[in-house]
Amino acid sequence: MTPIDLSGRVAFVTGGTRGIGLAIARTLLDAGARVAVAGRDADRARSAAERLGAGTLGVACDVADAVQVEAALTAAESGLGPIDILVNNAGLTRDNLLLRLSESDWDVVLDANLKGAFNTTRAAVRGMMKRRSGRIINITSIVGLTGNKGQANYAASKAGLIGFTKSVAKEYASRNILANCIAPGFIDTDMTSALPDGARAALLEQIALGRLGRPEDVAGAVLFLASDLASYVTGQVLVIDGGMVI
Ligand code: NDP
Repeated sequence: MTPIDLSGRVAFVTGGTRGIGLAIARTLLDAGARVAVAGRDADRARSAAERLGAGTLGVACDVADAVQVEAALTAAESGLGPIDILVNNAGLTRDNLLLRLSESDWDVVLDANLKGAFNTTRAAVRGMMKRRSGRIINITSIVGLTGNKGQANYAASKAGLIGFTKSVAKEYASRNILANCIAPGFIDTDMTSALPDGARAALLEQIALGRLGRPEDVAGAVLFLASDLASYVTGQVLVIDGGMVI
């Protein structure tokens, strides 16, 4: 099989400091891309990039803040070159049952998970349009398709991201800019480590493959969507959940 070669391409990965985003950054780097790793804290972003090695750059931005996003993209482009691959991976949860969900729990989650992708995509798409080439890969969640008790804010943000991605796919297909979502199931990261043992065991029972996902399982799907193998794929949601929802 032909190995995937992304040499000469530049990727911008939000939430690249740990978990799924860090695995995505490492996988794209291993395939030859130069990779900007973005997180809210400049030191954390820089240290993640240093740990990944040559060909990377750590940049700081809260994706919910359009001004910070513009500055981070500009810094990434001047350090590494024009962005070919945008991975909107940054995300957070503020779980609670609807009646206990505060307005700020709603706003923080929607601002990071949904408005964040709008901010980065709007900033990156201009250059992609000029070059008539680009890949936008948005990390949604299985919960965006199924809903989940205690996650009305998170599920709404992730479902919104799917609608956003399909719209971008339609708007920019004529410029050869492809936009797709990946919907992970239950992946072993900081985000899921706080789950009580009982909830974890109950979730495991629902997974056909009988194990939690690894960040690398998601990164492999990102690599595919970023590559020439996926040049006829746009507006899709690729579920990576070990058969949790079949
Ligand atoms: P982690 O909590 O381990 O990491 C989250 C990452 O997002 C960190 O790098 C963090 O960077 C960054 N981040 C959070 N908020 C912001 C913000 N406002 N601006 C910029 N960066 C931000 O999460 P995971 O790796 O588990 O999740 C990654 C993505 O995958 C998320 O979108 C999540 O919703 C999604 N997902 C995860 C699943 C799972 O089971 N783990 C399942 C389905 C989807 P820093 O703290 O350095 O700023």
